[in-house]
Amino acid sequence: MTKLKRSFDLIVIGAGSGGLAAAKKAASYGASVAIVEGDLVGGTCVIRGCVPKKLLVCGSSLLESISCAPHYGFEIENLKIKSEVLLANVRKEVGRLNELHENFLNKANVELVKGWGEFENSNCVVIKNRKNGEILNKLYGEKILIAVGGRPKRPRIPGASLGWTSDDMFLLKNFPNEITIVGAGYIACEFSCILKGLGVEVTQLVRGDRLLKGFDLELSSALTEEMQSKGINLKFGENVSSIRGITGSLIIRTSLDKELHSNGLLFATGREPYLEGLKLEQAGVEIIDNKIKVDNKSKTNISNIFAIGDVTNRINLTPVAIDEGRSFADRNYGESNRQVNYELIPYAVFSQPEIASVGMTEEKASQLIGKDNITVYRSIFRPLSKSIPKQGSKCILKLIVDSNSNKVLGCHMIGESASEIIQMASVSLMLGAKKSDFDNTMALHPTIAEEFVTMR
Ligand code: NDP
Repeated sequence: MTKLKRSFDLIVIGAGSGGLAAAKKAASYGASVAIVEGDLVGGTCVIRGCVPKKLLVCGSSLLESISCAPHYGFEIENLKIKSEVLLANVRKEVGRLNELHENFLNKANVELVKGWGEFENSNCVVIKNRKNGEILNKLYGEKILIAVGGRPKRPRIPGASLGWTSDDMFLLKNFPNEITIVGAGYIACEFSCILKGLGVEVTQLVRGDRLLKGFDLELSSALTEEMQSKGINLKFGENVSSIRGITGSLIIRTSLDKELHSNGLLFATGREPYLEGLKLEQAGVEIIDNKIKVDNKSKTNISNIFAIGDVTNRINLTPVAIDEGRSFADRNYGESNRQVNYELIPYAVFSQPEIASVGMTEEKASQLIGKDNITVYRSIFRPLSKSIPKQGSKCILKLIVDSNSNKVLGCHMIGESASEIIQMASVSLMLGAKKSDFDNTMALHPTIAEEFVTMR
């Protein structure tokens, strides 16, 4: 391959959500931009995260709909789950999205440079083939943006390499019959529900005493009950301490000195920045706690090097990385001085049922302004779609209100369409809505979301 030496206004390292957004926006302002990627274009979200995960949720959640179908007069016989078909179709869709993103880059006039980038100095990135170390390219950038994202973490225990991470789950030909999942966060809860819905026997080991720390306790307790009622074996206060065996037949020793036999184990124990191979030290970029330290303009300690997304010491979510990327481009190549608004970020866990949330939880508000200064409104009901089958999860909707100012501090929900509803509710919280504004909003009937404007 020809070795080229070329200069760009901007080199973006990493073609994930944040990097793609920054590269396209900078190019739209007329900057010459190269984006470096060693893997498929799209990053964690598109290739091995949010998108394929949500597709698996769509497949897996059909089981609940199908179980309701006879109550609506449908006869379904010989129900068979072929997870291998679902997994293959998800991979096909990911392949399509990868091509789509490559085309978007082409249209945006951004040069895609395939290979893995490493810093030679603060203006030069060497592009290598990681398999054989061959230098494929050498690029010079006036500015360099690091957007390499993160990778799943494995605990340091004997036999840890026998376990899977979420990255591996999307590459499996088929799911195992039985799985042990470690963790209580987003990925653990989402995968427990996905796999249970696809007929896998799931044991989830949680080292603490609850699921989804940081989310509203009432909602996470409701999710615990729902997951248990689906047959997910949740074990609290228990962790994995070692694994032995071979792929497909594992023996898991737990912190309570018990042994579990499982066909597979998924570590959903958090993620960390993917700094490996970047040689940041050659550019002098400062790292704190294994994350790149940036200021409120995404600038590192080196004046022409910036970082966005999961590699930084900020909030690790796709829409945040995209906005960090776009606002970086606006500030450096456009005319706006726009900063990212980190307040009131909506969150969703695509468990079954979904949990979604914006603003303060009841616990946080009690801590910050005192239990006596907040009013909690809630509505608990079975949605209309489940009223004939008389089965399936209930919805819980909660509003946390400042009793003195009447301002809505938080809006939380578990149940059908929670993520869609909370996305729209977050607009009203951004506008500083009061409980009286919710009360004065006409209900749209019969919906689930109307309960948010009819709570008294
Ligand atoms: P989370 O940070 O959500 O949860 C990590 C879980 O692993 C916690 O329950 C933690 O326990 C537990 N844990 C950590 N270390 C160990 C250990 N050594 N042994 C046992 N348990 C351990 O991480 P995830 O991996 O689920 O997700 C990573 C990130 O990806 C999320 O924080 C989020 O930013 C993003 N994400 C977002 C999604 C969404 O928006 N829907 C979906 C998936 C991922 P403890 O609570 O006790 O610390």
